[in-house]
Amino acid sequence: MAAGSAIQIPTRLPLLLTHESVLLPGSTMRTSVDSPRNMQLVRSRLLKGTSLRSTIIGVIPNTSDPTSDCDDLPNLHRIGTAALAVQVVGSNWPKPHYTLLVTGLCRFQILQLLKEKPYPVAEVQQLDRLEQFTNGHKSEEELGELSEQFYKYAVQLVEMLDMSVPAVAKLRRLLDNLPREALPDILTSIIRTSNQEKLQILDAVRLEERFKMTIPLLVRQIEGLKLLQKTRKSKQDDDKRVVAIRPNRRITHGSITEDEEEEEDHDDVVMLEKKIRTSSMSEQALKVCLKEIKRLKKMPQSMPEYALTRNYLELMVELPWNKSTKDRLEIRAARIVLDNDHYAMEKLKKRVLEYLAVRQLKNNLKGPILCFVGPPGVGKTSVGRSIAKTLGREFHRIALGGVCDQSDIRGHRRTYVGSMPGRIINGLKTVGVNNPVFLLDEVDKLAKSLQGDPAAALLEVLDPEQNHSFTDHYLNVAFDLSQVLFIATANTTATIPPALLDRMEVIQVPGYTQEEKIEIAHRHLIPKQLELHGLTPQQIQIPQVTTLGIITRYTREAGVRALDRKLGAICRAVAVKVAEGQHREAKPDRAEVGEGEDCKEHITEDAKPESISDTADLSLPPEMPILIDFHALKDILGPPMYDMEVT
Ligand code: ADP
Repeated sequence: MAAGSAIQIPTRLPLLLTHESVLLPGSTMRTSVDSPRNMQLVRSRLLKGTSLRSTIIGVIPNTSDPTSDCDDLPNLHRIGTAALAVQVVGSNWPKPHYTLLVTGLCRFQILQLLKEKPYPVAEVQQLDRLEQFTNGHKSEEELGELSEQFYKYAVQLVEMLDMSVPAVAKLRRLLDNLPREALPDILTSIIRTSNQEKLQILDAVRLEERFKMTIPLLVRQIEGLKLLQKTRKSKQDDDKRVVAIRPNRRITHGSITEDEEEEEDHDDVVMLEKKIRTSSMSEQALKVCLKEIKRLKKMPQSMPEYALTRNYLELMVELPWNKSTKDRLEIRAARIVLDNDHYAMEKLKKRVLEYLAVRQLKNNLKGPILCFVGPPGVGKTSVGRSIAKTLGREFHRIALGGVCDQSDIRGHRRTYVGSMPGRIINGLKTVGVNNPVFLLDEVDKLAKSLQGDPAAALLEVLDPEQNHSFTDHYLNVAFDLSQVLFIATANTTATIPPALLDRMEVIQVPGYTQEEKIEIAHRHLIPKQLELHGLTPQQIQIPQVTTLGIITRYTREAGVRALDRKLGAICRAVAVKVAEGQHREAKPDRAEVGEGEDCKEHITEDAKPESISDTADLSLPPEMPILIDFHALKDILGPPMYDMEVT
């Protein structure tokens, strides 16, 4: 196609300047065009032209087109390749550009640059001609020898490749069918060569020179291939050796690390088995676990059941089958703890102490389950926590609000991936002992659904006659719950399922009066919030009248939860002030704040300590302690939500 063919290229050629790659005669290349002159060439010559002639362009390598068409042309590479533009594809993304597919025809030399704008055009002289070969300086014989040598190397190289690949077979046929003088260019563009080397081949106008230059490139490629084949072979030998050492193992390419992993997992399974054997689980559980571990050993790890079984066994090992805390019940100490933690609630505390005393005497937990019924925030949960504290037991709260599926309590059967134990077994795993205090929170909010009645499952959990062999569906073996102390809470008895209510001793926890709330706030809530926010009584002062203000104007509840939250908000605001004050220099002249006038009636007794609102000028460090008066309340909590008169 190239040298020696009858192609006569036009004597004037538009020039496409390329920098990244070198097009050699007989090969095809894709090139991206985005510089102004090159774009112009594509637009006005390739896209507008209609004749075959107009698709022939000169590709000049090693010359980048200037980014602006006002810039002068750089020095053009002397020799280029006349090419046929086979395809033009335009795109606007990421910026306007064309992609050209060009096939090299023959070399040419620039004789004279005819114009530079809008794209360069030059008068050229075709260099690759058949006459050049026959009329060359060297005798036919000599070149024939050179080309024969080249041909042999080329055949050797191609035959080292995989002949089953169609392109390789085609290349082999081409070696025989193409004129010999075309081979150096074609093979140079196929084998691994740098742009610099390609450029040198392009510049090698004399055929003899071209042959001489490409032979070392071919030899280099052949040596490279030989080395590659050698290393591949030795790797295969290594693999075979590994197979021989471990005849039972399935070995594929690169699987040595997989094997190591498998071995590690195998060790894990052995460890797990050891743990199972040394754990204190019940006999029935041990039997099941040993059976499962046997299955696990035979199972391929890729099976979903492998992970399922392993998780199951790990849970079985972790469960506190025989682990418990020692009860340290002393009624007098219990009374002190309850009194210290809670203000008022006399009736409740009395009943709890009775309950604990009977337990101490009888030394078992059979009997009704205590159920604290009352509005939110009256301290039901917190009494439960105190009971655990007095007994020296772990405490775990199980929220039942909205539970409508019995498998939430009793677990899912292990028949599908994703099955889990129920909340009771999960709770036991969390606390790690088998005698915690479980607070079943909001039993009145249990719901029924198609997935079964959770209340019925709960009955089994709470029934002292049955719960020593509670069977969670996931575990599928009995677990003894008889040591767990259950306490329930509810907002109302009306919605507690009757069968469940029957098992419980309801203790009403009424709401608090304003006075009680104030006491609770000052004895418990405020000290707790101060500690939470890293504040001390020397930094903040909340007078009782302010607390009353919060209770009456900012909250409307039977319990003290919202009151607690508001106190938290106040502490946060004060913490900011204190932190700011620590970083700020005091200013000598203090600004008077007249804004507080209309709130005077709210301001406390003697407003000697600094009020937070008086420090509206943030540049002033607050004086300690910061007094929370009504003005400050308004600042922090916003305008009162409720009217005093209403309460
Ligand atoms: P409930 O479980 O009844 O909804 P919580 O036990 O969560 O309420 O109580 C909310 C907050 O109020 C807790 O921080 C608790 O310590 C506090 N609290 C409630 N009643 C009292 C009380 N009588 N004495 C001290 N703190 C109380």
